[in-house]
Amino acid sequence: MSDLFEPATFRTALQDWLAENDLTPPEDHSLQGHMRQFARVQKALYEGGWSRYGWPEHAGGLGGPAMLRAIVGEEVVGRRLAEPGPYSMLEVLAPTMIDYAPKELAAEMVPKLLSGEEQWCQGFSEPGSGSDLASLTTRAVKDAEGDRYIINGQKVWTSFAQYSHRCILLTRTGDADTPNHQAITAFFVDVDTPGITVRPLQTMHDVDEFCEVYFDDVVVDSSRMLGKPGDGWQLAMDLLPYERSTCFWQRIAYLHSRFDALIEAVKRQGQVVDSDLGEVYLALHTLRCRSVATQHRLAEGHKLGPDTSIDKVLLANAEQLLYDTARNLLPGVIELEDSDWRTEFLYSRAATIYGGTAEVQRNIIARRLLDLGKE
Ligand SMILES: Cc1cc2nc3c(=O)[nH]c(=O)nc-3n(C[C@H](O)[C@H](O)[C@H](O)COP(=O)(O)OP(=O)(O)OC[C@H]3O[C@@H](n4cnc5c(N)ncnc54)[C@H](O)[C@@H]3O)c2cc1C
Repeated sequence: MSDLFEPATFRTALQDWLAENDLTPPEDHSLQGHMRQFARVQKALYEGGWSRYGWPEHAGGLGGPAMLRAIVGEEVVGRRLAEPGPYSMLEVLAPTMIDYAPKELAAEMVPKLLSGEEQWCQGFSEPGSGSDLASLTTRAVKDAEGDRYIINGQKVWTSFAQYSHRCILLTRTGDADTPNHQAITAFFVDVDTPGITVRPLQTMHDVDEFCEVYFDDVVVDSSRMLGKPGDGWQLAMDLLPYERSTCFWQRIAYLHSRFDALIEAVKRQGQVVDSDLGEVYLALHTLRCRSVATQHRLAEGHKLGPDTSIDKVLLANAEQLLYDTARNLLPGVIELEDSDWRTEFLYSRAATIYGGTAEVQRNIIARRLLDLGKE
């Protein structure tokens, strides 16, 4: 089995398995269809063992280096068996559960995510708290007996909340005197708990990918706390680096597949493949090299931190350059046709927002990596 931990052997074995197991998606381009297909693919991968590699055994994984997860993501999303968006939630939320949930809870829940039995969401942003996340106001108050919390407030931009069974939720538990960064506590909340209302929001690319989520006297058991009271800020600081790097390993493969499709489309139009495409290739390749370096740092046991803001800036640049170039080289396809290119061009505008905006990433790079002080 340990031979399989060797990345090249693993990739070949997975490719053989994918050739024998037809997971071709049905012709359903709705978000609901994508979510169904993602669950189907995850179930098959889990039963075959593939989605368990790279995750620790105590959380239902089969062990091995985290790089194996990148290979699965690349092979699955690069072939468009699953869409990159839903897939990315695995990499954002599972590491946090493994690091912060009580051991038994992680052992019970993480396999549900890896096997596609459940989808989870991330309840961080609020109407007044996005970049300034520490100002969040959703409040969790301990009840008189002290073994439950009552949660009130609102989250927004919560991706896939309408399909989710659980939510990793940031709340404020400290009082007015508690410094912001010690006043935040995270919970693992069942989305079907009474008092939770989920309202999908439509993006400009016409998909209701994210939601408003309201909490009205929602009762959550203390055993669902992630870490200790006041650990929520540190949890967020540990989760966001995954959202800014490992979560789009598979997206990079997807962008490369779209780059290949762009070259084909340009050639079909009888145009010359010119230096604009060369620039896109360089941006994608730079991103991939950076991503490989991040994978190696993880494999060597480094903790991911502010350096992942570089990965995020490179992703957003490469993605937007790819679709800007598609817009220039395929006249009218984005403006006039109801095409995949149009949907993807519009969605690419979000790349400089989700996971922390481009400006915020540059602030982190300036202050924390280059030591340039406050702006
Ligand atoms: C597709 C998508 C999916 C998302 N999914 C989720 C999710 O699942 N869960 C979740 O919790 N959130 C999610 N978000 C929300 C996302 O994290 C926030 O949109 C992001 O953090 C920015 O916050 P904001 O929208 O409130 O913008 P604001 O913080 O209000 O920023 C507005 C503008 O001001 C700039 N700005 C703010 N502060 C500074 C500063 N200090 N220096 C320089 N410029 C600054 C920003 O760069 C931006 O241009 C998602 C967003 C998108 C687009």
